[in-house]
Amino acid sequence: MKLEDIGEFSLIKKITKDIFVDKSMVIAGVGDDVAVIKTKSEKYSLLTCDILIEGTHFKRETITPYQLGKKAIAINVSDIAAKGGIPNQALISIGLTKDTKVKYVEEIYRGIKEEAKKFNIDIVGGNTALSKDKIFVDIFLIGEIEPEFLLLRSGAKTGDKILVTGNLGDSSAGLEIIENPDIKFKGIKLEMRYKNNLKIAHLNPCPRFVEGKIIAKSKLAHSMMDISDGLSGDLTKICEASGVGAIIWEDKIPISKETLAFAKSIKKSPLNFALHGGEDYELLLTSPPENANLIIQKIQGKTKTKVTELGEIKDKEFGIKIVKTDGRIMPLNTYGWDHFRM
Ligand SMILES: [Mg+2]
Repeated sequence: MKLEDIGEFSLIKKITKDIFVDKSMVIAGVGDDVAVIKTKSEKYSLLTCDILIEGTHFKRETITPYQLGKKAIAINVSDIAAKGGIPNQALISIGLTKDTKVKYVEEIYRGIKEEAKKFNIDIVGGNTALSKDKIFVDIFLIGEIEPEFLLLRSGAKTGDKILVTGNLGDSSAGLEIIENPDIKFKGIKLEMRYKNNLKIAHLNPCPRFVEGKIIAKSKLAHSMMDISDGLSGDLTKICEASGVGAIIWEDKIPISKETLAFAKSIKKSPLNFALHGGEDYELLLTSPPENANLIIQKIQGKTKTKVTELGEIKDKEFGIKIVKTDGRIMPLNTYGWDHFRM
């Protein structure tokens, strides 16, 4: 049996059996955005790591080393933000090929340091190693949260409203433009500034740190995660962790004017990007129905970030479904990112 036969998520289930030494210290382990661990202080520790590998997550020709460093920190901050926590310290493991220019590595670290400073993160160590032919940056980030504010993936309850910050699909639309510089526009040609905005969404994601903190501190939500593998796949993860089902409305999914214009210009459905594209790093959350509007107003009032209500949590037996624009109710297919099946 090969990894491509079983996929990333079955593999994780297999390799994470019997992994705890002292389960009493673990509030949340594998299966959430971060591990949540009890400490001797009143706060919980939040631990997360995420890696960017050349060829899998980036190409040297299409991202600058400075952008790569910034992104490596940002995607880890996003996981801490998705629990409502704050990041504190990071360890950086970096694999470099022999022919890498010193300037290139300095630029990665310029990006790392700048982004770390933005979120008050101290770089406290790491590891540098030779990699035969691919560069990688792997960051281990430690954060914290007061237990009363912690939001997990497993807290969604039947009847909850499903909310999302920002727009979905920009990052994957941007990736498509980056990977196909000679893309053929079949309809109206895409404006240059639209093209650039989409590319930036992919190359320089902005974690919803402030929004995550406000949502957690408000105590108005039941569950939260960041969308890194696409709405369809990540909503499924909240449903699995919470033992619930869900319904979302296709026409409520927030899509930017840029992604709409790009999809139109290549005659593709914008939903391909918004539902199944990865790396948006927006927050997906659920709240009791009476709190949904309060969250929307709070976030928009304090941060100007848009929050959209796009569905509702149902019983597990209902499954996970989408109401199409023509009114048909269909099962929600999950084409989210799976590393070994792409
Ligand atoms: Mg995550």
